[in-house]
Amino acid sequence: TPTFRLDRLLANMGYGSRREVQQLVHAGLVTLDGETIEDADDRIAVTRDLSERMLIRGKPLDPPPGLALMLHKPLGVTCSHKEAGPLVYGLLPERWRHRDPAISTIGRLDKETSGLLLMTDDGALLHRVISPRAHIPKRYHVTLDRPLRGDEAEIFAAGTLMLEGEDKPLLPARMETLSETSAYLTLTEGRYHQVRRMFAAVGNHVNALHRDRIGELALGDLEPGRYRLLTEADLALIL
Ligand code: URA
Repeated sequence: TPTFRLDRLLANMGYGSRREVQQLVHAGLVTLDGETIEDADDRIAVTRDLSERMLIRGKPLDPPPGLALMLHKPLGVTCSHKEAGPLVYGLLPERWRHRDPAISTIGRLDKETSGLLLMTDDGALLHRVISPRAHIPKRYHVTLDRPLRGDEAEIFAAGTLMLEGEDKPLLPARMETLSETSAYLTLTEGRYHQVRRMFAAVGNHVNALHRDRIGELALGDLEPGRYRLLTEADLALIL
């Protein structure tokens, strides 16, 4: 278990500067297992249950470093600082924007795509999930402009489809027809605007795109704009 000086831990979790955190401690506003902590330079073992044991101003400590969460990304919210518009980070508590290590998205969804987005401050987890070798399936619910022709599932499954401007064919993808103009598409890679470009390649147009599953982890009934922390059991459904 990693240990941190309390002042450094809390400063890195966004509770203020080292000095502000020291003042918090000296004011008796930080407790561990019901006892007031007297010294800001005490070393704290950062265990998973720390938020249940440490109170700051009477409130449970934020999740310590090593967190992972799922967010229901609404339409119109962006994953990238380079794009205009509100950012997914704005959907998390304000203090979490000042954390070090920072929380980042695990992969991205387009601004005009909704659904399941993972976020973490754990670099190792990030790389395990986005590694091109991991081939973690991601399922999209696709609403189309025009009726399906009938040959799309076969074309996508073949592993020979070439997108414009690329020199490597797409990996096989699984399409399940839901209606004339809607389907699930499951990808094991993530190229730029991949779903939209796949349907453009078969003469259609994506009107709405929503990701509802990564691995075996489902978005479930999480409302748009809401997030929840992932448990070890959730992570086991992804990896
Ligand atoms: N494919 C897309 O076209 N957009 C996304 O956001 C995800 C997959």
